[in-house]
Amino acid sequence: MTAPAPNATDALSRFVFEHAAVRGAHVALADTTRAVLACHPYPPALARVLCELLAASALLASTLKFTGSLIVQLSGDGPVRLLVVECTDALALRATAQWDAERTAALGPDATLADLAGGPRHGRLVLTLDPKGAGTIYQGIVALEAGSVAALIEHYLATSEQLASRLLLAAGDGGAAGLLVQRLPGAGEDDDTTWQRARTALDAVDPASLLVPAAATAQLAATFPEDDIRVFGAKPVAFGCSCSRERVENALRIAGAAEIEAILAERPDVEVTCEFCNRRYTFAPAESRALFAAAPAGTRH
Ligand SMILES: [Zn+2]
Repeated sequence: MTAPAPNATDALSRFVFEHAAVRGAHVALADTTRAVLACHPYPPALARVLCELLAASALLASTLKFTGSLIVQLSGDGPVRLLVVECTDALALRATAQWDAERTAALGPDATLADLAGGPRHGRLVLTLDPKGAGTIYQGIVALEAGSVAALIEHYLATSEQLASRLLLAAGDGGAAGLLVQRLPGAGEDDDTTWQRARTALDAVDPASLLVPAAATAQLAATFPEDDIRVFGAKPVAFGCSCSRERVENALRIAGAAEIEAILAERPDVEVTCEFCNRRYTFAPAESRALFAAAPAGTRH
């Protein structure tokens, strides 16, 4: 086995065009996407769109200042009802989806996002920044106006963040990659010239070429040969699920004792499966009832 090139897989690198208000980020995923895909039997077209959305979410997360999680949620009236990708500030990614197996299979492997999720009338993209208890939740919503994940995220950035952006995404062989370039606010003539040149350069790139393992610095130098690009240190990206037995216990407490008794009337124990990572949490009857027997300290007076 040959070792991967440095920074080639499962890493995100931010970069700036020197002396211009243009910035970007590059991401390549292999182990992360494979781990996500291993959790559920995603049909090929859905797997491809999901991989693109994983790469896009990591790129989006890199452009935002936040603590907690960025949650990217696609919902619509197509065969895929829901698609959720979560990316933490530490670039841990997880995902889940709800789909109609028959209708999705009927579309074939080349189905687009628009085919899968349905049109703009009922479909929407919701971006949530959940600070996990450390502040206010932020949400941005746009209709599913675009046929591809890349076009949809560009549309979101233009309308919700007022940032002109160009995004390339590719997915294949269980991996994914993406390249994002953004025009930041800044009125200089050089800024416009650089932005135009960067857009033209991106238009010339075959997205599939992003899937060829290579160091981000080499890919960026090849993509923007006329520009001086400063690449910041690559950050690792990985699959990670934040579920835990403690969180499941809290969810069961919220469900309530009556609900738990109803489950136990039909089953030998209470079983909860994490919809993201498929991890199964089992509670024997005594364990389930104990969740309600001992009220947390401080709630009794
Ligand atoms: Zn989980």
